[in-house]
Amino acid sequence: MGESNKKYAPDEQGYFGDFGGAFIPEMLHANVENIRQQYLDIIGDPSFKKEYDDLLKHYVGRPTPLYFAKRMSKEIGAQIYFKREDLCHTGAHKVNNTIGQILLAQRLNKKRIIAETGAGQHGVATATVCALMGLECIVYMGEVDIARQAPNVQRMKMLGATVRPALSGSRTLKDATNEAIRDWINNPTDTHYIIGSVVGPHPYPDMVARFQAVISEEMKWQMKEMTGNENPDYIVACVGGGSNAAGAFYHYLNDEDVKLVLVEAAGEGIHSGKSAATSILGSQGVIHGSMTLLMQDEYGQIVEPHSISAGLDYPGIGPLHAHLIKSGRAEVYAATDAQAIEAAYHLTKTEGIIPALETAHALAILKDMNLKEKDKVIVNLSGRGDKDLNTYMEYETKNISDE
Ligand SMILES: *Cc1c(COP(=O)(O)O)cnc(C)c1O
Repeated sequence: MGESNKKYAPDEQGYFGDFGGAFIPEMLHANVENIRQQYLDIIGDPSFKKEYDDLLKHYVGRPTPLYFAKRMSKEIGAQIYFKREDLCHTGAHKVNNTIGQILLAQRLNKKRIIAETGAGQHGVATATVCALMGLECIVYMGEVDIARQAPNVQRMKMLGATVRPALSGSRTLKDATNEAIRDWINNPTDTHYIIGSVVGPHPYPDMVARFQAVISEEMKWQMKEMTGNENPDYIVACVGGGSNAAGAFYHYLNDEDVKLVLVEAAGEGIHSGKSAATSILGSQGVIHGSMTLLMQDEYGQIVEPHSISAGLDYPGIGPLHAHLIKSGRAEVYAATDAQAIEAAYHLTKTEGIIPALETAHALAILKDMNLKEKDKVIVNLSGRGDKDLNTYMEYETKNISDE
């Protein structure tokens, strides 16, 4: 859990510069305020810290390795390191956050957990910790996503969660989020809402970033051990809502010599109309409870995003990242669907690691960064590719028949 650092930490109202805050319906105010008043005390308590650290070590499998990728380094012409979040239990970084929030929920005396999920990755991470703690778990998921992501729906059910379909709107992630919020309004006393990224009303973006900060906490001592210096020249991470990036950046935010690089999903091309390049195409507005950058039309209606990777298929970006981008602290790149798939195959053949499609976006831009031989670059490998095998195989079949 990170120490807050002034320049990039939120103020009392949860603002990172111009972005953040808590834009919520009156009926949710008490729930959110209850968490806001207690979260820092709870997660700062030594007994919380001990339980959180023990679970991360013995259950999640932390610390995850920092791996020097020799063959990839030679090809790119720079020193490339991978932070292996793909080796976490459940296959991605998301569990760092759900472990933290389930321990918080217990200390708030909550008996029932709700969550929203798009592709099902956050739903699985939430159902996992609910099984671990014996708490009731309800996951809202768009009806369209339930059909597209059958294996994750089965995982959640096997873990004992109830998966409730969201039947309104486009029947995808934003509709599932609306259903979860409705549930929370109706069950204010016994229910905790586990949000899956650094989005939502204050204090969620700050709280989730603190739970993911373990990533950069480990990177610092691992880098020191491997190179004699805890700071790399660059840290690169893909960004959907921004939780893996926030975790990888957290303890480096004030080390201005470390350049921070975010990679968004350009879908079929940034200006193709089928993209999720939120910060590049987006403008300031309110989504899911916070002021941030989002894709919207001239009337302020959310524009449906598109990405081949479900985890990056989100029309907004966390307020911390909006601030990092606007202040010039972080730089943004975008990779298309095709570039991401290419990069996934490339990593697999070069290093024997099959990455998640989300992660593959971060890998895709390395060759465009104009890196120098001596540059040390840490890429956050946010997740593994098992869940994406169908997409990868479809692509291979298509390519073979094209030849
Ligand atoms: C969910 C997910 C992401 C995107 O979410 P962030 O909050 O931006 O990290 C990235 N990679 C993987 C593997 C994911 O499952």
